[in-house]
Amino acid sequence: MSRTKIIGGNWKMNLNQAEAQALAGALRQKVCGSAEVVVFPPFPYLIPVSGALAGSAIAVGAQDFWTKPSGAFTGEVSLAQIKDCGAAWALVGHSERRHVIGERDALLNDKVHAALLAGVKVILCVGEQLAERESGKTDAINAGQLSLGLAGVSAEQMKDVVVAYEPVWAIGTGKTATPADAQAAHKAIRAHLAAMFGAATAAAVRIQYGGSMNAANAAELMAQPDIDGGLIGGAALKPDDFAAIVAAAK
Ligand code: PEP
Repeated sequence: MSRTKIIGGNWKMNLNQAEAQALAGALRQKVCGSAEVVVFPPFPYLIPVSGALAGSAIAVGAQDFWTKPSGAFTGEVSLAQIKDCGAAWALVGHSERRHVIGERDALLNDKVHAALLAGVKVILCVGEQLAERESGKTDAINAGQLSLGLAGVSAEQMKDVVVAYEPVWAIGTGKTATPADAQAAHKAIRAHLAAMFGAATAAAVRIQYGGSMNAANAAELMAQPDIDGGLIGGAALKPDDFAAIVAAAK
């Protein structure tokens, strides 16, 4: 099964408006290749970044959203609002939301359903913490997060879901999973998706690697048979590096 690679750029809580627009403009100039590309600016910059990328092949997504359509949810942002600001994608379950903010699997499952119902495509992030890897629990942690996060999702809906395998110990640390270790985790994730949704659906789902992917290691990681792209943090803020990662996604 050939899967179009997908590269995400997670800008996290970085940049000011001028910098966000400049980064979007630089990406528009520099990014090319066959991969699908989506960037995730901070909420306040969704509109200017969407404007800067309008008509380009680079899509825009939101780093988060709330599940309810409107109402008394102070500080939250709805799916209709992110769509209105140009977002076609949303991240769900990023490790910083799970482990810093404290979002649990049941909420993440609500978010997956809400996004798919609203017509927003989802990147669901899963991944183990260091102690879990060291005690041999990587595949069990990923399987558990997939089972809970994707509970009740249909095989048909999975066409709008990408899974990002992001070992927590590799995010923002400069430590990258070896291509062999990442491939092993991706293969196990695909096997778990096959058990949940059937072999054909699992073969079509794209599974990104995330965790200190950069211009130097991207090609080898994405050459692995079950690694279908990358979710990029730090290197996504550097247009030349991000463009090199996209170019490496053959
Ligand atoms: C991320 O934020 O999803 C990520 C992978 O960050 P970094 O590339 O900086 O490790």
